Amino acid sequence: MINLEQLYRQVIMDNYKNPKNKGLVSDPEYIQVHLKNPSCGDDMHVCCHIEGEIMKDIRHDGHGCSICCSSASVMSNLLKGKKVFEAKEIINDFYEMVKGEEISDEERMDEAIVYRSVSQFPARIKCATLAWKAIEEAINKSIEE
Ligand code: ZN
Repeated sequence: MINLEQLYRQVIMDNYKNPKNKGLVSDPEYIQVHLKNPSCGDDMHVCCHIEGEIMKDIRHDGHGCSICCSSASVMSNLLKGKKVFEAKEIINDFYEMVKGEEISDEERMDEAIVYRSVSQFPARIKCATLAWKAIEEAINKSIEE
């Protein structure tokens, strides 16, 4: 029997070893955000292309721990193709979840639900949220433009 914790670890390792949407696009239509988490040495670059209301494409690149890098992969996969307002809701739910708070819609978190266990390790919360902070900043930049 595989338990929940093993399953969570599996998702994290799969996304760390075989990241989805990795590699940046240097197209002027892509908004670029670069964030660091000095406490762990995580360095994350996220770029996205928003077309109208839709998160058309999300890419990431960087280096850091398995929590940070896998989370970028999961985030890009989950938010790509979503409407911007929904992406923002999911980002906020993610922040609540890693703090150990209940969220209203667990179903739509899909693979991102595995980071719920991070709430037990407060020092790693910044690792888990780095790519999400980056995409949030990119969305805010797109609204300003
Ligand atoms: Zn880290």
